[in-house]
Amino acid sequence: MHTKYIFITGGVVSSLGKGITISSLGALLRARGYRVTALKIDPYINVDAGTMRPYEHGEVFVTEDGAETDLDIGTYERFLDVDLARRNNVTTGQVYLSVIEKERRGEYLSQTVQVIPHVTDEIKERILEVGTSNNAEIVLVEIGGTVGDIESLPFLEALRQLRFELDRENTLYLHVTLLPFLGASEEYKTKPTQHSVATLRGVGIQPDGIVLRSQSPVPEEALRKIALFANIGEHGVFNAYDADFVYAVPEVLEQQGIGRFVEQLLNLERVTPELRVWQEAVRTLRSPATTVSIGVVGKYVAMPDAYLSLMEALKHAGIANEAEVEISWVDAEDLVKGDLESLERYHGILVPGGFGVRGIEGKVQAARFAREQGVPYLGICLGIQVAVIEYARHVAGLVGANSTEFDPYTPFPVIDLMPEQLEVEGMGGTMRLGSWPMQIAEGTLLETLYQPGPSGVVHERHRHRYEVNPEYVPTLREAGMIVSGVTPGMEGRGEGLVEAIELPNHPFFIGVQSHPEFQSRLMRSGPPFRGFIRAARLRAQAASDLEASNLEAQV
Ligand code: GLN
Repeated sequence: MHTKYIFITGGVVSSLGKGITISSLGALLRARGYRVTALKIDPYINVDAGTMRPYEHGEVFVTEDGAETDLDIGTYERFLDVDLARRNNVTTGQVYLSVIEKERRGEYLSQTVQVIPHVTDEIKERILEVGTSNNAEIVLVEIGGTVGDIESLPFLEALRQLRFELDRENTLYLHVTLLPFLGASEEYKTKPTQHSVATLRGVGIQPDGIVLRSQSPVPEEALRKIALFANIGEHGVFNAYDADFVYAVPEVLEQQGIGRFVEQLLNLERVTPELRVWQEAVRTLRSPATTVSIGVVGKYVAMPDAYLSLMEALKHAGIANEAEVEISWVDAEDLVKGDLESLERYHGILVPGGFGVRGIEGKVQAARFAREQGVPYLGICLGIQVAVIEYARHVAGLVGANSTEFDPYTPFPVIDLMPEQLEVEGMGGTMRLGSWPMQIAEGTLLETLYQPGPSGVVHERHRHRYEVNPEYVPTLREAGMIVSGVTPGMEGRGEGLVEAIELPNHPFFIGVQSHPEFQSRLMRSGPPFRGFIRAARLRAQAASDLEASNLEAQV
């Protein structure tokens, strides 16, 4: 079978949930048994997302091969259940960097180097590369931003050319737009979509299908109107209205026949998709057996997308435990003042990854509270670091212990720069990134969570500069801390870099240096998250049992 390409553009507004819509289509194709992969094209000039503010742009997702990408790559990985790589996220910055480097090396043989054909050729090469190197049958190609943006023009031109090169039955153009609802006249407005399709036609692309995002199901009449104006058969207009849970979107689209539509246009065999995982997840989410309340102590509290993968991992773990996970954002800076009572109502406390000194003391307080009160604690990356600082200060007696990231003059640098980071000068792509092995110690809680098999080794993804200082590991151990995971084979670092810690005599206290949220999937939730939610569920159960018996005693 020739590799098929589905090109997806967006219209009317950005952030309209294009990633979820496309990923849902990908899930429907995966559920038909195809090898599917995805490519996100970001028209900004940054080479990657690693240098962008998470509270403006959402989280930086990390791939197995250590690329710092747009968060849509994470959504693709979770919906398609595939591992993507650096090449699956292309930016304008990468394209121009490579064209300019080729020009400097003289590869264009004295030609005038231009947007068409040199830049567009470079773009096409990268698109086709994704298909071949992933050995994919179907490639979803999403152009970020909105049609009409100046910066996306070279990409649209490349897509236009590809239909001629690959043929009609191997290419499909989908346009995703927003259908706004006007309260005053109580109707969905189709005009912005009409304009957006006209703009797309202006650059030579006639969409084959349209997916309309809306708050609620759109009346047939509006869909027919769009089909007519957009020059598309009625069977090519789909309505991705807001679902109660994102995992319900594949089914919403399947019911409208999007899978069949793609099969017809790409000349694929007719297959009935296997959607059980999605249906079961939605069923659990709609009627969970219980609810657990989790406090996430962070800095970017106003922008939940800054922790998108983490939210998803908690959701996966909730589904695995048949529990609804209620997430509350706790501003770490509020805890600095010592107002810890607000933490009492949570069944679990999570300190996620983060950078910079702001809010650190609040996070240390939260770790202390969890340790002393026996509240389940999960520390991710920065979260293991604050747990170690807390333990060093209050249990091991290292008063003033800190990370050199927050206090370069601390008397006890229990968290310090990794030696390979000392010489790094640039900012982009300079951390310890991507997948690294972790050797799990026998007899630990971590071992029961991961079930690592005879080798004891598992892999998780990383993104950090600092680490637990090996010089302090013996002291921390003497004070009772358990090192439950290390990077194998790191000579000269004691037994290896500390990857994970846990505490004895505590229902659940785990810190990991990696980000297990990046690999968590609906079908295989991240082990630390699953264990954490299970422990939170037990705490919630114990709390309600106590309440019930108190009530009985009163009667
Ligand atoms: N700031 C810490 C470091 O660089 C933690 C990073 C993170 O949580 N991703 O090591």
